[in-house]
Amino acid sequence: MTMIQTHLDQARQRLCTACQAAGRPVDAVTLLAVSKTFRADAIEAAYAAGQTAFGENYIQEAVQKITQLRHLPLQWHCIGPIQSNKTRLVAEHFDWVQSIDRLKIAERLSQQRPQRLVPLQVCIQVNIDGGSTKSGVHPSTLFALAQAVSQLPHLCLRGIMCIPEPTPDLIADNAVLARARGLFDALNAQGFSLDTLSMGMSADLEAAVAAGSTMVRVGSAIFGQRDYPGFLS
Ligand SMILES: *Cc1c(COP(=O)(O)O)cnc(C)c1O
Repeated sequence: MTMIQTHLDQARQRLCTACQAAGRPVDAVTLLAVSKTFRADAIEAAYAAGQTAFGENYIQEAVQKITQLRHLPLQWHCIGPIQSNKTRLVAEHFDWVQSIDRLKIAERLSQQRPQRLVPLQVCIQVNIDGGSTKSGVHPSTLFALAQAVSQLPHLCLRGIMCIPEPTPDLIADNAVLARARGLFDALNAQGFSLDTLSMGMSADLEAAVAAGSTMVRVGSAIFGQRDYPGFLS
């Protein structure tokens, strides 16, 4: 067993325990392994332990690994900010994009999605706690963006993603997670059929699962501490 496989087992165990504590089925929450800054051999080790869904933040770094690992049946999620000049690479290489935060990017991704591929699965990133430097749409504009994105032919809107800033105040953290859950439920009440509420990372996985997350994005707890900047910089 490699270190990564041991850590992956521990992350799965945490997820399982969190689901049980929340009274949710153990398969209600998908584990996304966030492999940014780690090399392809780390991803292969996780794959050998049964992990197939991986999240990446930096487009060029990701495309290099996706190309290197083309022989494996992996699912790639883009979870980092996307500039207009990177949309073609994203549309051609990823299966999911969780970081949609404006219509222009969504339109370009739809236009540039190759016809031979299934639609790109997307989530809208919501700035849930109002951090001014953070990406994501303000909750007040979420509904309009969701409506516009859902019309695009080569995208399939699956849900929302958020990255709450952890604070020392657990009650406040839980209120933020509950607000995200409320937005997700409100969209579905308004006629969308979304199945993905992507929230929770290594540090707040349990709280996110308790609040109704359906996908947790875990990096350092699986792959170890990251040395920034990324290895390609
Ligand atoms: C890096 C990253 C993660 C993983 O964070 P960890 O604390 O290492 O688990 C999850 N989501 C996003 C959007 C990230 O950028």
